[in-house]
Amino acid sequence: MNSTYVDLSNGFEDVIISFKPDSNEHTFPVFQYSPVNVQGPGCPVDPSEVTLPGCSCLSHSCISESCSCLQTHGQAYTSDGSLLSTNVSDVGPSTPVFECNALCACSDSCSNRVVQRGLRLRLQVSSTSGRGWGVRALQRIPHGTFVCEYAGEVIGFEEARRRQLAQRSEENNYIIAVREHAGSGSVTETFVDPAAVGNIGRFLNHSCLPNLFMVPVRVHSLVPRLALFAGRHIDVEEELTFDYSGGYRNQTPGQPRLAQTDAAIQASRTLQRKACHCGANNCAKFLPLDLSILN
Ligand SMILES: [Zn+2]
Ligand SMILES: [Zn+2]
Ligand SMILES: [Zn+2]
Repeated sequence: MNSTYVDLSNGFEDVIISFKPDSNEHTFPVFQYSPVNVQGPGCPVDPSEVTLPGCSCLSHSCISESCSCLQTHGQAYTSDGSLLSTNVSDVGPSTPVFECNALCACSDSCSNRVVQRGLRLRLQVSSTSGRGWGVRALQRIPHGTFVCEYAGEVIGFEEARRRQLAQRSEENNYIIAVREHAGSGSVTETFVDPAAVGNIGRFLNHSCLPNLFMVPVRVHSLVPRLALFAGRHIDVEEELTFDYSGGYRNQTPGQPRLAQTDAAIQASRTLQRKACHCGANNCAKFLPLDLSILN
């Protein structure tokens, strides 16, 4: 049997996503690989358009004292590009992240440019026991490291609802709804569907005790990129998972679910009620269900 691995991204990422095409070929989804979000029906803006202002730092890397980006939005990353732990509480990320963009004068290696650099880690898409396809780490991943985006078509609420209702019960639902609650009480909603056009994120399984968590990150557009970061140290061969309901607890089972603080970010992949086989001690036995999209 030929066991050569190919690049799942077809060269669209800077690193190869290891994938063995001859394994369970018949169950492999047909989709178009895109490393970044694309504009879908009902999304009024093209996510690739540059609409946010830039800083005028002529330095190698921006510093909070002088950078208008960091002064306006705060510093999200350490100097080596890990997410600052102050940005994440037990219940998930608390503030949105804004990176330097194409209009900024700083260099490409500015420490405020992380998610925009794309996939840097060696990952593999392979079949799991009982849970379809999944993503594994082929290298150790330190806590706070950016792993990958959950990228796909950015669609409007009505289109998300239409697609959800048109789905057959045996089909996977990939649509994720991210709600960002600002302190003023306003809510920003983003819907991303990687089913037909998407990246490696569409292969990540749900876990009630995940090792990744999601943070909306803005680069040059107000349309957020749904970035997944390592919530703890991850070892070689470990499967990468996130909580489709957007929660992330520091591995302490039994704590209350996502609390609604005055500035909170909530993500959920809307699903039909399906059994969860993640195997965690605190497993809820069912994949999270979010009906708000159907109301
Ligand atoms: Zn910068
Ligand atoms: Zn700057
Ligand atoms: Zn900047």
